[in-house]
Amino acid sequence: MKTNAKAMGLGCCPCCHKVVKMQAETQQCPRCHRSFSVRKINSLSHTFAWTIAALVMLVPANLYPMMIYYTLGQPEASTILEGIATFIQFGMYPVAIVIFIASFVVPLAKIIGLFILMYHAKRASKLTVKQQGQLYHIVEFLGPWSMLDVFVVAIMAAVVNLGFLSSIEAAKGITYFGLMVVFTMLAAESFDARLLWDAQDQKPKTDDSQSQLNEAKSR
Ligand SMILES: [Zn+2]
Repeated sequence: MKTNAKAMGLGCCPCCHKVVKMQAETQQCPRCHRSFSVRKINSLSHTFAWTIAALVMLVPANLYPMMIYYTLGQPEASTILEGIATFIQFGMYPVAIVIFIASFVVPLAKIIGLFILMYHAKRASKLTVKQQGQLYHIVEFLGPWSMLDVFVVAIMAAVVNLGFLSSIEAAKGITYFGLMVVFTMLAAESFDARLLWDAQDQKPKTDDSQSQLNEAKSR
């Protein structure tokens, strides 16, 4: 049984969302003239490459100093962790918490989430359609949160302006951190979520009906 648009030879334009009968692997949308293919080409390879690149950038981003700050005229270099410790020392706990979440929790969650998604898109996983949907929504939810890093910069500027520290200079680490953010964004952008449904369709049907049966029983 043909269960999805791909199996029926239909493709969706990513720009204007027109559903088109696919004549070739890549073709032009008759409405907005954008070229597209049924699935993003080499989606998993691209996502994997960008995710690995992001993971590599996470190391220098944490090892190199993120900022050089001057207290009483003395320059002091500080990494992300030392920065968090400094804010705790100054008693600025909310700032420390926001920086911790923006610099560690969100990037790590995004990288781990991408790896989990790639694994499930590659293999016909044992997850049900419902669980796959939930997984997809989690990563979708994490997407906009990469903007949190921008808020960290804004908070830093505010802290300096309020005069808690006399001045802050960006150091080497911030370049790597910025690259890491950009790479995770590119990784998420390269990932074609429809591969999850494809992997689901490739599963033996008995599996699916069994899980549906179990779900029905549990209700
Ligand atoms: Zn179009």
